[in-house]
Formats: sequence, C-alpha cells, structure tokens
Amino acid sequence: MTEMNPNEIDIVKAETSKIKSVDFSNLTFGRVFSDHMFVCDFEDGKWQTPKITPYQAMTIDPSARVFHYGQAVFEGMKAYKDDDGKIFLFRPDQNSARINKSSARLAIPEFPKDYFLNGLETLLKLDSDWIKPGLGNSLYIRPFVIATEPAISASPADTYRFMIICSPAKAYYNEPVRVLFAEKFSRSADGGVGFAKAAGNYAAQFYPTSLAQKKGFQQIIWTDASTHQYLEEAGTMNIFFRVGNKLITAPNNDRILDGVTRKSVLQLAKDMNMDYEVRRVSVEEIKEAAKDGSLKEIFGTGTAAVISPVSAFEHGGDVFEISPVEDSFAKLFKDTLMHIQHNLAEDAHGWRHEVI
Ligand SMILES: *Cc1c(COP(=O)(O)O)cnc(C)c1O
Repeated sequence: MTEMNPNEIDIVKAETSKIKSVDFSNLTFGRVFSDHMFVCDFEDGKWQTPKITPYQAMTIDPSARVFHYGQAVFEGMKAYKDDDGKIFLFRPDQNSARINKSSARLAIPEFPKDYFLNGLETLLKLDSDWIKPGLGNSLYIRPFVIATEPAISASPADTYRFMIICSPAKAYYNEPVRVLFAEKFSRSADGGVGFAKAAGNYAAQFYPTSLAQKKGFQQIIWTDASTHQYLEEAGTMNIFFRVGNKLITAPNNDRILDGVTRKSVLQLAKDMNMDYEVRRVSVEEIKEAAKDGSLKEIFGTGTAAVISPVSAFEHGGDVFEISPVEDSFAKLFKDTLMHIQHNLAEDAHGWRHEVI
C-alpha cells in the first residue's frame, strides 16, 4: 500500500462551475455540493490511484454490500478561509485517525493518512471559491467509505470506495434546542459501534428522535444502555453540563463518539483554568441541580454547529427549563473555537492546518 505515491491523483476538472447558481446567503445545510469530488477505490487488496472528478452521480451494483449490511463509515470536518484567502482545516489528523478507527471496527480497510490529507487538500484548492471568508462561513467536508463489492453473502466486502464530497455551510445562529433524556431507546451498547462514526448509528436514531420531535424535543440525550441512569451524548454531538461554574462531561467509552470539538473544549477549559471534571454524569444529579438552581447550562459540541445550547430537558415526564445566563460558557467556547478556526486568534496548540 505504502509503495504508492500519495501525491499522484488523476484529476478531471469540471468544464464549468456551478458556483454562480448558488445563493451563498441562503444555504440549507448539506443540499448543495461543490464542483469536484475525491474518489479512491480499494481493489485487489489495495487502494488504487485516487481520482478527483466533477461531482456527479455514480453507478453502484444493487447487490453492493453497503446497501444490505450497512458497511459504511464517515467523517465530518470543515474548511475555513481567512480574509487573506488562506484556507485552513481544524485538526484534520484527528479525522484521518478516527475514520480508520471506525473502519477497523466495521472490517473496512484503513485509508492511508497521506492519501486522505493530500487528496483533501488538492480537492479544496480546486474548489477554493466555494470556501467563503467571514466568521462562521465554511465548507463542510464529508469523507466516507462504502463497501462496493456486488455480493449479498453476509461477510465483509473485498472492494470499497473512499470518497470526499463538500458542501458550503453558512454561519448560522443556532436556536437553543429542547432535549429529552433517553429512558427507553439506546443508540449504542457496550462492545458495540457507538464510538465509531458508522452510518447505521444514525439510522438507528431517526425513529426515537422522530418520537421526541412529536413531543416538542428536537434531540435526545442518550443514556447508558444498561441502566439509562447516566448521560452520555447527543448522537450528533457530545454533551457538557455546567453546574455552578464547574464543567462536566462523560468520559469516552465504546458507546460514545470521541469528538474533536469535545476534546478541544476540554483543552480550552484547562487553558482557561476552569474547574472541569470528566466523569459519569447521572440523570439524578442533573435533575437535582436543575431543581436547586445550580444547573447553569447544558450544551452540545460538534463540528457542524460547533456549540449548541440546550434550553430545556425532559425526563420522567418532568420538563426542566434552563434560563439563559449572562456569562455563558457555551458562547465563550464557541467564540474561542471559531476565532481559532478562522485564523482570528492565536493557535496555542497548533490545531489550525493551513492548506498550501
Ligand atoms: C460526529 C459526532 C460527534 C461530534 O464529533 P466532532 O468531532 O466534534 O464533530 C459527536 N457524536 C457523534 C455520535 C458523532 O457522530
């Protein structure tokens, strides 16, 4: 695998750009895609020479294993542009490492880091116009791998496709969300695939989430599958609680996705000398804190929304409202992270990665 040259990419450029037809001031997340995509096939036991082609539909055999057994993993990351036109990624090595952890769990071959990063950077340079400067604007990046082998016997495929597609995203003010603490359904279990960014983890959440939405809650905070007594994560975001001035989040385990935003927030909390704890968080203690007024904030962390404040939660039929606070930690972390991402603040930990 490693004998191949990661800098070799077959490139077919789009004849015309779609960019003029896109209204960048009015973008719905994940609907519009940039002009090019990155594709690399795994065949004959190795990753073949990668390609960049115009973004387009592709032909896949109906018997491809991804359709039957869900052998698919993905990543979510963003590219940012500063006012000088420089392009940046945020901790891309983390995404490269994580997709390989996810792949390993789903018996998918790992994709070499230099292929990933070189492929992504080449793609971003071609589609540079799709990355708009301005705080909060970004190009959302979706790397993913699917099992393409046409065969419906229940075993891992011997051919795969690694791809990267990109979708422009706008700075948006995210409304605080109302959440429900899970009491019945689970998104992941001990020894399962909760820690992996496996496509099926999302499919499994859609039904319980739709029930929550009917009750007026946009998202579910998942609890541990065996007791439902400990709060784990939001299913597209990790979750933090602020009790008094202390920040608390659950430790990573095999049910929880190891979020890049989560670990960056923890590092910032440390840098700011904040009081924080990484430990199990019980439903009971959060309900108690809500009752005695010490629960100041709950917020989710993830690449797409950066930080998402929670305005209320439901458990056991009781609804607890969380009033907005003046000195919001959610806002502080969001501003700090976004300024680092957009090259507007010092980057003490070398998180920014310039695309040259
Ligand atoms: C992607 C994801 C997150 C957030 O991870 P980031 O690296 O911060 O974007 C959290 N939970 C789940 C289940 C996810 O899939």
